[in-house]
Amino acid sequence: MATIFTKIIKKEIPSDIVYQDDQVTAFRDIRPATPVHILIVPNKEIPTVNDITPEDEPLIGHMFTVAKKVAEQEGVAESGYRLLLNCNRDANQEVFHLHMHLFGGRQLGPMIVRK
Ligand code: AMP
Repeated sequence: MATIFTKIIKKEIPSDIVYQDDQVTAFRDIRPATPVHILIVPNKEIPTVNDITPEDEPLIGHMFTVAKKVAEQEGVAESGYRLLLNCNRDANQEVFHLHMHLFGGRQLGPMIVRK
């Protein structure tokens, strides 16, 4: 079954796409945690980081090139931003279609809450 992100990529449901090419789509998170909160998603359905194969390496590299481009586009390249991928339960992954979060637009604080 197609993931919600595949429906966004195919424009079957509305979203705010900020970048798209034949490999990757980037769109605004529906519940932004920061002033700039973009999801960078491979058009190919890869459920989690655990499912990445060596053949996917050019695609994964391309996600970073797109992240850099989107950061520039959103005006946060110089001020700074955070890229993050959640994998499975302990990371609270909600959507099982690989996606890189790009957070920015304010001081983001420490990377993780220490316990
Ligand atoms: P994760 O916890 O890493 O799986 O993050 C999933 C993200 O997808 C969350 O930040 C959600 O707010 C976001 N999300 C879920 N549905 C949509 C949607 N239809 N459009 C944009 N973002 C979405």
